[in-house]
Amino acid sequence: MNINIKFWVGTYYEKTLVFDPTMQISTPDFVLLWDLGDEKMYRYAINFARRRLRPIKEAHAFQLTVKKYLEWLVSHSESTTDLKNLMWKEAPFYGVPKEFLSEITLKGRHEIIITGLGFAYKGTRPSDKGKPRTAHCWMCHSALDNSIDIECVACSWILCDCGACGCGYSRARP
Ligand SMILES: [Zn+2]
Ligand SMILES: [Zn+2]
Repeated sequence: MNINIKFWVGTYYEKTLVFDPTMQISTPDFVLLWDLGDEKMYRYAINFARRRLRPIKEAHAFQLTVKKYLEWLVSHSESTTDLKNLMWKEAPFYGVPKEFLSEITLKGRHEIIITGLGFAYKGTRPSDKGKPRTAHCWMCHSALDNSIDIECVACSWILCDCGACGCGYSRARP
């Protein structure tokens, strides 16, 4: 088997992520990417993955990463199909790597997420707090922080601490 054809390995800052075509389902918005750092699968906005990830160039690093991924794969007793279904159910959503998000401002996180999802970035403004909002962020699934009082100009949703707003909400639903 020529593993160089099957997998795609990309980097984003310190992260090394594996794209395995057999783990994907036909959703226009998300891909599953396996993170070499903590050896876990995460759900990424597909536009973010397309635009921000850079293919790994060094053959040795590529092969080491794929070797680690294959070890992770075979450590699971599930069939490939079962594992895929499990991952699509349980893999956390990361529009961008969390440790990177924590280094930048909320407005910066918002801009990254908006552009990552493929929307035009229109900025933020103070919220009048009169807008309805959900209890949990659709994107990162954490409870929304009531102390945040800036909203997205495009959708008028108050931002989550992760930077997500309402843009992309409906598209994210399967
Ligand atoms: Zn969030
Ligand atoms: Zn928005």
